[in-house]
Amino acid sequence: MKRIFYIFIFFIIVFIPLGMYAYSLNISSSLFNLERIYSKNTVLLIYSSILISIIFTLYIISIVRRLILKRKTSKIFKQEVEEHKKTAQFLQISQERFDLAMKGSNDGIWDRNLMNNSVFYSERWKNMLGFKDSEFPNDIKAFEDRIHPDDIDKVISRFHNHLDKKTDYYENIFRVKHKMGHYIWIHDRGKAIFSKENIAIRIVGTHTDITEKHIAEEELQQYQNQLEEKVKERTIELQEAKEKAEESDRLKSSFLANMSHEIRTPMNAIIGFSDLLTDPDINDHQKQEIIKHINKSSNTLVYLIDDIIDIAKIEAGQLKINKSECNINQILADVCNSFSESHNLKSKDSVQLKLMKGIQNDNFTIHTDPIRFQQILINLIGNGLKYTENGFVECGYMVKTENNNSHLEFYVKDTGIGIQKDKHEEIFNRFSKVEDDKTKLYRGTGLGLAITKNLVEMLDGKIWLESKENIGSIFYFSIPVVEFKGLHTPESEKDYSLKDWRNNTILIAEDEDSNYRVLQMALKRTNINILRAENGKQAVEICRSNKNINLVLMDIKMPELNGLEATREIKKVRPELPIIAQTAYAMQEDEEKTKNAGCVDYLSKPIKTKVLISTLNKYL
Ligand code: ADP
Repeated sequence: MKRIFYIFIFFIIVFIPLGMYAYSLNISSSLFNLERIYSKNTVLLIYSSILISIIFTLYIISIVRRLILKRKTSKIFKQEVEEHKKTAQFLQISQERFDLAMKGSNDGIWDRNLMNNSVFYSERWKNMLGFKDSEFPNDIKAFEDRIHPDDIDKVISRFHNHLDKKTDYYENIFRVKHKMGHYIWIHDRGKAIFSKENIAIRIVGTHTDITEKHIAEEELQQYQNQLEEKVKERTIELQEAKEKAEESDRLKSSFLANMSHEIRTPMNAIIGFSDLLTDPDINDHQKQEIIKHINKSSNTLVYLIDDIIDIAKIEAGQLKINKSECNINQILADVCNSFSESHNLKSKDSVQLKLMKGIQNDNFTIHTDPIRFQQILINLIGNGLKYTENGFVECGYMVKTENNNSHLEFYVKDTGIGIQKDKHEEIFNRFSKVEDDKTKLYRGTGLGLAITKNLVEMLDGKIWLESKENIGSIFYFSIPVVEFKGLHTPESEKDYSLKDWRNNTILIAEDEDSNYRVLQMALKRTNINILRAENGKQAVEICRSNKNINLVLMDIKMPELNGLEATREIKKVRPELPIIAQTAYAMQEDEEKTKNAGCVDYLSKPIKTKVLISTLNKYL
C-alpha cells in the first residue's frame, strides 16, 4: 500500500509540472484540452492550488503519520523501559536472594573461566582460609598450593571427571591450609558450563567450611568404633563368662562329689577309731596309734573346713591380710618339722623333706602376714609330698634384687608326678584337679592352689611353676622384703612349758560339754582349779562372787548372754582380770571384736594344748 501511495505522489509531483510546461508550449493534446474551458492563467492557478493543496495535504499527512509514529514509538519505548525496569528489579531481587542465600549458608564462591584460566574468589571464600579479600590473589595456583598433599590428586581427578562430562556435577571434600598454618576441611561443589562443541568453558562453585562437622563426624566415628570394639569385647567376655560358668558348673559338680569323699574319709577314721578306743582289749601302744590317727583325721577335716571358708572369703572379697613381724627361717622350720612328724605316718620313707635357708640369720624378719605365709608353705609342701612317691621335696628361698627392690623368692621342688605343660595355668583355678594317674587316687579338693595364688597376690607377690611330667615340679613364689618396724617378740620367747598352777583358779565359760572336757583334760596336768560357766550370764555371776579367779577362758557363742557381752560386764567389775576368748569363729575380724570387748588374747578352736599352755603362760 505504502509503495502505491508513494508512486502516486511521485506521479503527481512529476507529471503536473510537466503538463503545465506543455501547456505553456501550446502542445495540444487530449490531455491538456483544458484551454477550451479555462484561460491559461486560471488553469495555472488551479494547477498551482491543486499542487499546493496536494503538497500541503501530503505535508499534513506526513506530520500526522510522524505524530502517530512518534506516539507508537514512545509507547513501545515506554513498554521497553518498563520491561527493562522489571528485568532490572528481578535481577536485583535474585542478586539479593543469591547474596542472602550465600551469606546465610556461609559459603564462599569461586568462578573459573576455563578459556583464559582466570578465576574469581568471593570475599567469604578467602575469609574461610583466614585471609582478607585483598590478601589472597585471584589465582588458581595460589589455591592449589594450599591443598593438602594427600588430597591434591583426588581433587584434580574429580575436577577433570566433571569437565570430561563423566559426572553431572563436581563435588569433593579435602583439606586446605589456613593462613595460620593448620588445615581446614572444605566441601567443594561446582557445575561447569559447556560450549556447543561440548567443551567446558566455565565452572562455578561453592566452598563450605565443614571442619567442625568433620571433626564431630570423626569423633562420632571414633566413638562408634570404640563402641563396636566394646561390644566385641563384651561379647567375648560374655562368651568367656558363659564358658566359665559352664566350666564352674562342671567343676562344682565334681567338687561336691569330691568334697563328700574328702569329708567322709577322715570322718570315717575318726568315728571308727573312736569306737575302737572303747574296746577294753586294746593295749596302750595301740591306743596311742589310734589317737594319732584320730588326730590326723581331725586335722585333715580342720584344714578342709579352713580351705572352704578361705575360698568363700576370697570370692566374697573378705579375706583380710594381717601383716606383722614374720620370722622366715622360724616359720619354714616349723612347717617342715610338722610335716616331718606327720610324714612318718605316711610311711613314705622313700621321700625326703629338705629345707634350704637362703639367709642363715635366724632372727631375720620381714613385714608380712605370718599366718598366710605359713598357709602358702603348707599348701605347696603338702602338695609336693602328696604327689611325690620317690625322691625328695625341697623347700628354700633366696633374696633377689631388681631396680633397688628386694624380694624373697621361695621354691618348693619335688621329684613327683609332674604336671602337663598345658595344665600349668588351670591348676590355679578352684576345684581343678589335673593329675591323670590311673594307678593311684590322690586325695584333695582342688582348692589349695587357688587359695595359695590368691594369698601370694594379696601379699604383693607372684606365683609360677616349672614342671615336667614324671620328672617333678618346682613351684616358685615371691614376697617383697619389707622391713618389720614393730615390736620384736622372737618365737624363742614363747613358753610352752607346763607349770604347776595349783594356786590359780580358772573359769572356763563353755556351753558345749565336749569342748569343756577337752580344755579340762588339757589343763589337768597343771593342777589348776577349774570352774565352769555354761552361759554368759553364769560367767558374769561367778566372776562377781568369786574373787579368786585369776583368768577366764571365754567361749563367744553361748546362750543367755554371749561371750562378748559377758566380757564387757565382767570388765566393769574386774577390769584387771585377763579374759581370753576361745571361739570356733576363726575369722580375722572376730579376733578384733573380742579385743574390742576387752579380751586380752584369742584362741581359735580347735585349740592345741601347746598353744593353750603358751597363751596361759603369758597371763598366769
Ligand atoms: P588338691 O587338693 O587336689 O591337691 P590343689 O589346688 O592343691 O588341689 O592342686 C590342684 C591340682 O594341681 C592337683 O589336683 C594336682 O593335679 C596338681 N598339682 C598340684 N601340685 C602338684 C605337684 N606338686 N605335683 C603334681 N601335681 C600337682
